[in-house]
Amino acid sequence: MTTTTALSVPAELSANPLDDALSQLKAAVETLSYGPGQHQMLARPRREMSVSIPLRRDDGTVDVFTGHRVQHNFSRGPAKGGVRFSPHVTLDEVRALAMWMTWKCALLDVPYGGAKGGVTIDPRNYSPAELERVTRRYTSEILPIIGPERDIPAPDIGTDERTMAWMMDTYSTSVGFTVPSVVTGKPVSLGGSLGRSSATSKGVVHIALAHIALAALAHRGLRPHGSTAAVQGFGKVGAGAAEFLAEAGVRVVAVGDQYGAVHTASGLDVPRLLAHAERTGSVIGFEGADAIGSDELLELDVDLLIPAAVEGVLHEGNAHHVRAGIVVEGANGPTTAAADRQLHTQGVLVVPDILANAGGVIVSYFEWVQGNQAYWWTADEVDERLERRMLQGWTSVLETARRREVTLREAATLTAVQRVAEAHTTRGLYP
Ligand code: NAD
Repeated sequence: MTTTTALSVPAELSANPLDDALSQLKAAVETLSYGPGQHQMLARPRREMSVSIPLRRDDGTVDVFTGHRVQHNFSRGPAKGGVRFSPHVTLDEVRALAMWMTWKCALLDVPYGGAKGGVTIDPRNYSPAELERVTRRYTSEILPIIGPERDIPAPDIGTDERTMAWMMDTYSTSVGFTVPSVVTGKPVSLGGSLGRSSATSKGVVHIALAHIALAALAHRGLRPHGSTAAVQGFGKVGAGAAEFLAEAGVRVVAVGDQYGAVHTASGLDVPRLLAHAERTGSVIGFEGADAIGSDELLELDVDLLIPAAVEGVLHEGNAHHVRAGIVVEGANGPTTAAADRQLHTQGVLVVPDILANAGGVIVSYFEWVQGNQAYWWTADEVDERLERRMLQGWTSVLETARRREVTLREAATLTAVQRVAEAHTTRGLYP
C-alpha cells in the first residue's frame, strides 16, 4: 500500500452505534410486548473482556494498544463475530456490532450467538511482523473465552485470512493441538471453506450480498441490465460486491474508499479498478474516472446504493439527499436510526445489514461445520447452500414485513429477537 493520506475520523462516526442498536432492540421489544426483565436480558452483553496489548516495534520501542472481545449472547450456541483492527474501535462500537451479530445469526438460523472483537490500531502504520505480534498477543489475552465451542472469531475491517491463520496458530500452540475451528475465514490451506468465484473463503461474502441486491432489484421491478449502482467501501465486502454486480450486468457508476471516490456515468471497468486499487492502495486516481467526494457518492441518482465500509455513514444530515431507490447494507450499521426513518419516508427500500451481509457468517458456519467434521465440501456445495439460505432469509423477511406492515429492518429484527428470546425462555433462568 503506497497511499499516504491520513485517515481522519468521519464526523458521523462520533455518533454512537450502540444507540442505534439499542433503539432497534427497544422498538422490537415494544412490538413483541416483552417486559423490562426480558428487554434487559436481550440488551446487555453476556460477557466483555478488555485487554492491553503491548507491542515491541521493529525499532525496539514499545506501543500499547487496547483490545476488546464482547460476547453479546450465546443462548443459541457459541458466540461468533469478526475482529476489527481500526483506529476508531471503541468498546461501545464492539458492543453494538456484537448485538447485531446475535440478531444476524438468529435471523439466518445459524446456531450461534453474537460476538465481536476489536483492537484500536491503524494497521496501515505497522509492518506485517508487528501486526503478527499484535494479533498473537491479542489472541493470547482473550484465549480463556474463545474456542470452537465458546466463541469463534473471523475477519472484519483491517483483518484478513492471514490474521485468522495467526490467531488459529496461537490458540492451537497454547492448547497443544491443532484446532482449525477456533476461527473462520482462514486460508483454504488451513481448512478455510471453498467459495464460488474465488479460491479463498473471503470470496463468498460479496456474492451473497450481490444475490440480495439482485433480489431487491427484482422486487422493485428492475433488471440487472440497465440498473445502476454506487458502492462505498472497496475492501473485502465492497470490492467483491462491485465485481459481482458488474458481472451480473449492473452498471457500477461509482466506488469509494476511505480516501475518496471515483465516478463514471457509463460505468466503471471494475476488474481494471481492482487492479488499480491493488497497485496503489486506493480507488483514487483511476484513469478515465472523475474524482468525487465520499458524501457525493452517497447522494448519486442510482438504483442501488451499497454502503460497505463503516457504520453511521447515512445519517440525519444526509439521508434526505439520498436519491437511490434501494440501499443494500453491506456494512454493519451504516444507517443511523434517524436516517432509517427518513429513508422510509422517502420510499427508499433499505435491505438491512443483518440480512444483506449475512453471507459472511453463513459461510463461516459452513467452514466451522466442515472443520469439526474434518470433511470438506465442494465449492458448488458451498455456493448452492449459501444461495438457498440467503434467499430463504430474504423471502421470510419480506413476508414478515408485508404481514406486519413494517420495514424490512423491523421485520428482520423482530424475527431475530423473537428467536433469541424463545431460546432464553426455553432454557429457563439459572439458578
Ligand atoms: P475491509 O477492511 O476489507 O474494507 C473496508 C473498506 O472501507 C476499505 O475500502 C476502506 O478504505 C473503506 N473505508 C473505511 N472507512 C471509510 C470511510 N469513512 N468512508 C469510506 N470508505 C471507508 O473491511 P470489510 O471486511 O470489507 O468490511 C466492511 C464492512 O462490512 C464492515 O462494516 C464489516 O463489519 C462488514 N462486514 C464484513 C464481513 C466480512 O466477512 N469481511 C461480513 C459482514 C459484514
